[in-house]
Amino acid sequence: MSRFWSPVVQTLTPYVPGEQPQMQRLVKLNTNESPYGPSPRALAAINQQTNNDLRLYPDPESATLKQAIANLHGLDPKQVFIGNGSDEVLAHVFLGLLKQKDAVLFPDITYSFYPVYCKLFGIEYKTIPLGSEFEIQTTNYQAPNGGIIFPNPNAPTGRAIPRKDIEVLLAKNKDSVLVIDEAYVDYGTESCIPMLRGKDCPENLLVVHTLSKSRALAGLRVGFAVGHPALIEGLERVKNSFNSYPLGRLAQAGAVAAIEDQKHLEETSAKVMQTRARLVKELNALGFDTLPSTANFIFTRHPKHAGAKLYQALRDRGIIVRHFKSPRIEEFLRITIGTDEQSNELVTTIKEILASA
Ligand SMILES: *Cc1c(COP(=O)(O)O)cnc(C)c1O
Repeated sequence: MSRFWSPVVQTLTPYVPGEQPQMQRLVKLNTNESPYGPSPRALAAINQQTNNDLRLYPDPESATLKQAIANLHGLDPKQVFIGNGSDEVLAHVFLGLLKQKDAVLFPDITYSFYPVYCKLFGIEYKTIPLGSEFEIQTTNYQAPNGGIIFPNPNAPTGRAIPRKDIEVLLAKNKDSVLVIDEAYVDYGTESCIPMLRGKDCPENLLVVHTLSKSRALAGLRVGFAVGHPALIEGLERVKNSFNSYPLGRLAQAGAVAAIEDQKHLEETSAKVMQTRARLVKELNALGFDTLPSTANFIFTRHPKHAGAKLYQALRDRGIIVRHFKSPRIEEFLRITIGTDEQSNELVTTIKEILASA
């Protein structure tokens, strides 16, 4: 605490990311990174950009990257906004689109960065409880609001809702922006991006993606939003009032190559989904109760073993998962899907823990 902090800083409770431990020999299943590397084409592109051109500023518009994303998703480049990780994109979305007279709505159990941005920017929010099976119930979002945001699939639950539900919600929500955070969409969830194609693109739907999860580039920091050109123009105004160059030359080059390598994404996502199915079966055979997941993580609890204790016991044995000390979910563990080998090690270790308890 310092008396030189501005009043807003004194009120902040910053987001706490999952730890990035320096210990060796560790099974790291706590921050939903990909267990597989990025596209080799992305690495080659980054290497190629590592030259004297780094003395020059990067393209402030990330135009080549916008075009690559537009090509991949059948959109116009004017429908694409780029940021330094989707966390930065989300920050601009909160300030630029969701700071309104009415409160913004999001689930009570969701990505914990949303309330942090609200505090930072002085945005009123109201949380809407998930249903009894931890599902998002879109019919509960129909009150007047300054915007609606949720991830699909939701985090940390991993549960998705069908696109049809989002279409119905959008049809009823005409006067504020609906933001779908699709950070984990590539592991078996229907994307809302097709709704944005062509001249029927809705004025108030924004879809946010990241290259940190399925494209295995968390270390590069690239995210994007797609939507109506007028929404994107608003975000550009915020971005250009904050940082003209959010993406460096290496990040732009790597991201373009990664976006163009759809085959790598599909192959690695398919492997993650296979490992997920096997892990869920094995854990449930041990008595775990696992929410249906279409993410690269699962949310699971054991009726006879407390979440906090399991978390610590795994940690003591060199396996790091995520545990949230929040109401309704403190008995759960969020476990990132790793390789088959990591998955086997996890199951073996859990068997030991259960046997010794
Ligand atoms: C990981 C994650 C993000 C942020 O990813 P970046 O690394 O900042 O691109 C955004 N939303 C959700 C729900 C996430 O889990």
